[in-house]
Amino acid sequence: MRNLVLGSLSVTGLTDINSFSLPVKTLFPSFDDKILNEKEALDPKVISNGLIHLTIRSWLLRQFGQNILIDCCVGAHKNRPNHPNWHKRDGKDWLKALIKEGLRPEDIDIVMCTHLHADHVGWNTKLENGRWVPTFPNARYICGKQEYKHWSNTYKKSDRHGSFQDSVLPIVEKGQMEFVQDEWELAEGLITQLTPGHTPGHLSLKSKEGAFFCGDIIHSPLQLRYPELSTAFCSDPILARSSREKVLLEISETGSYLIPAHFADPGWTKIKKSRFGYKQIK
Ligand SMILES: [Zn+2]
Repeated sequence: MRNLVLGSLSVTGLTDINSFSLPVKTLFPSFDDKILNEKEALDPKVISNGLIHLTIRSWLLRQFGQNILIDCCVGAHKNRPNHPNWHKRDGKDWLKALIKEGLRPEDIDIVMCTHLHADHVGWNTKLENGRWVPTFPNARYICGKQEYKHWSNTYKKSDRHGSFQDSVLPIVEKGQMEFVQDEWELAEGLITQLTPGHTPGHLSLKSKEGAFFCGDIIHSPLQLRYPELSTAFCSDPILARSSREKVLLEISETGSYLIPAHFADPGWTKIKKSRFGYKQIK
């Protein structure tokens, strides 16, 4: 896996699931089949045979001797019967990728949760003697106040996968979770920014070195061409679209790297405005 080095910041992707495929209309209910005829808009790595392909990865940030993780993917041994390839998996490749970077779970200083969906909090915890415990014993885990409040009020009804209970509450119970305001300095030069809509308190992270870690405000390069497409999993699709449009505009104007959670390798891109939406700068 390549590293992206921007000034004092080094960025490395840690992949948990290389290609997770689902019917395009399951992800994007308003997807118009006419798009399938637009050959130039469609990369087979992005869509093929009516399936959209996503990667599930964390970002490892290293700067000034600190090791920071953004999001924790699907994880291992979690009970996810609705997703056979997430269900009780061994998932060791993700840990191996971390170790390959010369790091142990003990070496992680900060874990930032952009939001609390099951494919972003999995490795927050690991199974030890039948109990879920923090995977990163020395880390401060960071979550937006609004995001936590939303899920703690609704998880008994709305936690589709049980991930709030097995991957978030054990961190809170250990006293390792900190709840932060919408705009908060996570570490030197790294500021959180509220980008709501996919979930009510979704946070992105901006680096002054020119990187924008945007979690799930965008899932697929298809949404560069069609920024209006929100997913079936967005709590407020209209607000999600508005957050996405603002961020894409800002990134294209500042020349920052767009770094979402689900793009294929390398997982980051620069973008420019085009006649229709945005284009990746290769
Ligand atoms: Zn996601």
